[in-house]
Order: sequence, then C-alpha cells, then structure tokens
Amino acid sequence: MVVVHADLGRVEWASTRELAELQARLAGVPRFEVVQAKGADLLDRVEIRYGKLRAKAKEEARERGEDPSTAKVAPAWPSSSARWCTPDAKRGPIRTLYTRLTAELAHLGRPVRILECIGQRAAESRQRAKLAGVEINRQASNGKRHITTWRPIHGWSDRRVWREIARSRLPYHPAYDWGNRRLSCVFCVLGCTSDLVNGARRVPELAAAYARVEITVGADFKAGLSMREIIRRAQVLEAAEGPAARPPAGTAMAAIVGQAVTAKYRRRQAAVYGLGGLISRLRRSEGGSHHTNTHYY
Ligand code: SF4
Repeated sequence: MVVVHADLGRVEWASTRELAELQARLAGVPRFEVVQAKGADLLDRVEIRYGKLRAKAKEEARERGEDPSTAKVAPAWPSSSARWCTPDAKRGPIRTLYTRLTAELAHLGRPVRILECIGQRAAESRQRAKLAGVEINRQASNGKRHITTWRPIHGWSDRRVWREIARSRLPYHPAYDWGNRRLSCVFCVLGCTSDLVNGARRVPELAAAYARVEITVGADFKAGLSMREIIRRAQVLEAAEGPAARPPAGTAMAAIVGQAVTAKYRRRQAAVYGLGGLISRLRRSEGGSHHTNTHYY
C-alpha cells in the first residue's frame, strides 16, 4: 500500500504534506510518496497560460483582419468549466507515480492492477455527487496498467467523517479549526467565500500574490469575486475582530460531534500517539506559504 500526496507548493496550506505523511505513518502505511508538477507552480501557470491565450487571441484577431490590440483574451484562471489546475497539479503528477509503480512490478510479466483510493464525497458538491463509488480509470490505464478508482467514503456525511476521525484518533489539519470547510489550495477557485476570506486572513502574503496576478492577467481570480474583494473582506473582519482569531484545537470536531467526544479524542490522541509536540508544530507552522510568520498557540 502506498499513500501519495500531490504537493502544490506555496499555494497549498502549509504543513499539509507533513500531516499527510504523519497520518500515513500512524495508519501503518509503510510507503509515503510525494509528487509535484515540474516547473512553474499553479499561480505562475496562470500567468504562463495568460501569455499563450493572449498570443492566440491576437493571432485570431489578425486572421479576421481586426486590430490585435483589442483582442479579447479568455480568462486564464482555472474555473469549474476550465479546471486545468487539477490535472496539471494533481492528477498528472500522481500518474508519474503509477508509471514508477508499474515499472517496479514489471517482473510480473502482465499488466499491473492498481486500486486508486480517493476520499471524494457526494456531500462535497453536485459534481462529486455524480461520481461513481467504483469505476475504471480509463484515462490513467494503458496496456501496462489497469487502474480502478475506488471512493470508499463517497456516501459519507460530514458528521460520519468527523466521527471516524475521532474514532481513529488521527490528527487533522488546524485550518479546519480556523473555520475552513475544505483543505487544498488556500485559494481554490471552487472554494466557498468564507474559506477564501479565511485564507486571506491567515496567509495575507499569498492573497497579495494572487491579487498581483489578477492585475497581470486582467481578470478576477473567480467569476464575480476578485482577490481584491476577498482581501477587503478579510481586512474588514480583521478590523472588527482583531488579528485572526485563534480557536482552540478541536473546535471543528466539537462543532459536529460535541465537546465530550472531542475531549476524549484529544486525550487519547496524546496518550496513544504522543502527538502533543507534533501537532503543536503543525499548528505553529500554519499558513499557505512556507514563509509565514504568524504563530498560533
Ligand atoms: S484545490 Fe481548487 S484551485 Fe487547487 S487544484 Fe484543486 S480545484 Fe484547482
């Protein structure tokens, strides 16, 4: 069994990779792999994509006999209808691991079978609700490997997930205690507004980098919601509430499964895994970039 983490670099919440590795180790999975897209990160790719889209728009305008300087350039940011970020930053790099695993098992003399286990759930979005619990991953399969995708928690509710975390005693990312509903890119183009504002409060330097790219590519980060506006809302909250609040560890879990279960989870986690120090380190290294100087606890 192998756990793989697709590292998104500066655009993802800090310490996610360390947490994934820790979870794998505590769950008894012997092999942990990290993959990462080669070259530019997701934010730099937006600018690169803009350059290509602009060149294409100008070329097409010239062919139509129009002034290329007035050519309308398609949005460079990823979106639900142009979700190039996931294959570029996650699916593609993860397939490089499948290639390596397949090569390692070449001695079998037959196509390798890989069961790809993903935590996507129907409750997360209408799009995800349409996904099957089990299906052949035809795009990742080829003559040398047959990939089956399995979504074992596809039908789980939020409550069931939190109960399972409590039961397993595995640590979860502190961003959930800070109010996030999802965890991946700090600024996900599909993220809800409160997660985005939370990200701008916690990782303002990354929000500023996104706002600069908005200017470069001449388009808002998200249709109808610019990063400038997200930063403005974060600043309003900061002014009203003071520096981003520091909710105690276990806040997110307690909101779903209650204080008693959460207190037991934290006690048993510390006792069984001796995780106090490790989790404190994760919480201290909060933020989406790796150079945050904001500290919690
Ligand atoms: S978390 Fe959001 S922005 Fe980041 S790769 Fe996934 S869909 Fe794209």
